[in-house]
Amino acid sequence: MSTGVHRFGAGLAEGGAGDAALLGGKGANLCEMAAMGLPVPPGFILDMDVFRRWRETGTLDNATRAAVSNAMRWLERETDRVFGAGERPLLVAVRSGAPVSMPGMLDTILNVGLTEAAHAAIAARDPRLAEDCRRRLLPALATSALGVDVDDLDDAVDDWLLAKGIDRIEAQDAPTLAALNAHMLDVVEEEGDAPFPETAEAQLFDVIDAVFASWNGHRARRYRAAQAMEDGTGTAVTVQAMVLGNLGDASATGVAFTRDPSTGAPRLYGEYLLDAQGDDVVAGIRTPAPLTEEDAAATRSTMPPMRDVLPDAFAALAAHAATLEAHFREAQDIEFTVEDGTLWLLQTRAAKTTARAGVRIAVEMATGGAITRDEALLRIAPGDLEQLLHPKVDPAAPRRVIARGLPASPGAVSGEVVFTPAEAEALSAKGRAAILVRVETSPEDIHGMYAAAGVLTVRGGMTSHAAVVARSLGKPCICGAGDARVDVQAGVLTGSDGKPVRRGDILTVDGTSGEAMAGALPMIEPEPDAALATLMGWADARRRMRVRANADTAEEATVARRLGADGIGLCRTEHAFFQTGRLAALQQLILSDTPDARRRALTVLLPMQRADFTAFMAPMHGLPVCIRLLDPPIHEFLPRTEAALRDLARDMDISITDLRGRIEELGEFNPMLGRRGCRIGLLFPEIYDMQVRAIFQAALAVEVEEESAVDLEIMVPFVSTDRETALFGQRFEAIAASLRHESGRMPTWRLGVMIETPRAALRCDRICEDAHFVSFGTNDLTQMTYGLSRDDTGRFIRDYIARGGLAHDPFHQLDVEGVGELMRIGVERGRATRPDLTVAVCGEHGGDAQTIRFCESLGMDYVSCSPYRAPAARLAAAQATIAQEAER
Ligand code: ADP
Ligand code: MG
Ligand code: MG
Repeated sequence: MSTGVHRFGAGLAEGGAGDAALLGGKGANLCEMAAMGLPVPPGFILDMDVFRRWRETGTLDNATRAAVSNAMRWLERETDRVFGAGERPLLVAVRSGAPVSMPGMLDTILNVGLTEAAHAAIAARDPRLAEDCRRRLLPALATSALGVDVDDLDDAVDDWLLAKGIDRIEAQDAPTLAALNAHMLDVVEEEGDAPFPETAEAQLFDVIDAVFASWNGHRARRYRAAQAMEDGTGTAVTVQAMVLGNLGDASATGVAFTRDPSTGAPRLYGEYLLDAQGDDVVAGIRTPAPLTEEDAAATRSTMPPMRDVLPDAFAALAAHAATLEAHFREAQDIEFTVEDGTLWLLQTRAAKTTARAGVRIAVEMATGGAITRDEALLRIAPGDLEQLLHPKVDPAAPRRVIARGLPASPGAVSGEVVFTPAEAEALSAKGRAAILVRVETSPEDIHGMYAAAGVLTVRGGMTSHAAVVARSLGKPCICGAGDARVDVQAGVLTGSDGKPVRRGDILTVDGTSGEAMAGALPMIEPEPDAALATLMGWADARRRMRVRANADTAEEATVARRLGADGIGLCRTEHAFFQTGRLAALQQLILSDTPDARRRALTVLLPMQRADFTAFMAPMHGLPVCIRLLDPPIHEFLPRTEAALRDLARDMDISITDLRGRIEELGEFNPMLGRRGCRIGLLFPEIYDMQVRAIFQAALAVEVEEESAVDLEIMVPFVSTDRETALFGQRFEAIAASLRHESGRMPTWRLGVMIETPRAALRCDRICEDAHFVSFGTNDLTQMTYGLSRDDTGRFIRDYIARGGLAHDPFHQLDVEGVGELMRIGVERGRATRPDLTVAVCGEHGGDAQTIRFCESLGMDYVSCSPYRAPAARLAAAQATIAQEAER
């Protein structure tokens, strides 16, 4: 058995960047940096095997303890110090680090080894430093390892500070900190499960246990649940020599990005705090200072930039940042500490950025030759593109700005103000938009941020927790809105103008400008983004599958064209009937039994539909347009109210009783399994005939107007037999022929069917004798395959999944095993009959990257999704092509 201990330091690295699965991301990259000769404090990693052994018993086995002690002796030699003793005692950081990054969710404990002796030795030279280190170690160790409740200890500290009239701890002198520490120690001795460990070794082993145990802490579990991450993996632990950023005014701690994480601009970007330690920067307790003058200007900061205050350390940081980005071929997020003028690197990882920045960085790195175009395409999560297309506040709109802060995560949103994560969750469960307003956010707030539509904090910088999390979620966020005041208890946000905004009031958060405004402001479409256009061009050149849009109106068709759709994959024709005048005509068509009355209804409907289709086809000229005939259950169109009944009876010139009788005859127990889809077409033939005639006439009109052929497809919904398909084929062909008779011209068109029943999938070979294309309607197909009602499952599906009956909601994530199997069969059998068969997916699954990957594996021709998802689908299709090629 290997010891599971991996050392790194000057000229030594027992691991590298490729070992993240064993060493955790943080540990692997520390090794990599050490091997590159970068200034990393020496240390060692307890790997994932150690975690697995630890988990079995909840404690370290003796062999591992011995290995840790050995490694500590090595670290003492390496640093020329003694752990927890001597004149310049060695202190260590005990750091969590999982294979998948979980920023801030696991424990890291600093200043371990600060024994009485170490404290005395440090105090002899720098009393304030000794107390500052102790006031950090005490609560961290007590709450993580001794079972002391975080809130109890916080309250005790707050009470003490209040009694002494102190408001900021970090500004206090040594005697005050010493008194606070003595008070904290009393509380800890009283509340803790065990006394505070005396020896450095005891502290170390207690803390290692605690960091491992933080894997199963509340915070970490909630984060994993929210991110749909597995619980099983665990975390590695890094034990590393401390470097002190709290040594005075030539010392600091900070975070740097190799590129601006909001815009992607290629320049060093970040924040730092003088005379500080650990996560002071990211915790958002103090508002940090910028690294450069440019950042100072952008964030309206008046604090002196690091470049001026610590020029040598800054120059080293800039140089190492460039080295790291070139080495990892990805923008980096770097944690550093300056100890008495000397720069140390403590962490590097791929930077989390806004979607906009991510696109710009990928495109610029590919253009500069650092990565390939394929790599650039693979780096962007398709879902992120939606963020770039989100609307922003209309700059011309009048506004009452109630607070200004840092533009921490771009985009704009309006919603109801809430002050706690729980309220945000409750509101979002009701389908309403919540704006979470906090003084600062801690990792404990993460579930509230998931639920909120936007976030506003009074404190914290651009790298604070709130900002990092919001950016990765794509939620608009303003941080450090220092001119606002928040009273969580009372539920009031007081703006800079002194006016209150109360819980439930509407607030607009503009994370692009950093302005929070009272009320809901009008939004406009974002301007085009050059980097995005480049990336989409690459995606279009790379993808095999086409991406069409589901659009029902001329406006939607125009948006679809603008967003790069290759045509229309699904035009639902039912919405048109709900407009005034049309519904009554359709009702007469369904309910009359005299040919005359039906003819009258048709003369109303036909010209209207013709006008609809003409307007709809025009923006799509040159591209394929697939129109689906009427689909919903017939009862959805029948009159419901007494007044509507009376009006219709009068129009139809029959008695209300007769009308009621006719409606009752059409009543069904299971309308979704009754007279719907193509069954309407067979049972009420005039409806489809009218629609098809209108479509043909529109196509001919558009051809004349646009001087280009319309690539027309007519799709019949909900078929299950080849008989149905053949009947419609003959019928529509006859209509086309009659048009030639009337107008001398005949449209070119193709017949297709929507595959929404298992039988249709199974019988695709026969169906495709008449159908030239098939489109899988995965919503209905999922409903029919599971026998699960689309309209009712929402009420119980979460509960059902929680009870283990389903792994996920098949209406959200395509069920590849079952529904996908039917699709595979349909594609194979259909193509066996008709090798040039066009095969597609429409419905909401069509815009989902995983589904698109599956469609690529089936060799489908296109996917169709809502217009706003088209860019994401185009990128996902390119990624699917690349992945499919790699598989071969
Ligand atoms: P997280 O995963 O939450 O970022 P880290 O292990 O990176 O946790 O530690 C958090 C912070 O603690 C770091 O950003 C750094 O400021 C500080 N820190 C970590 N290791 C050391 C060290 N060896 N010396 C000084 N400070 C450290
Ligand atoms: Mg870190
Ligand atoms: Mg359907």
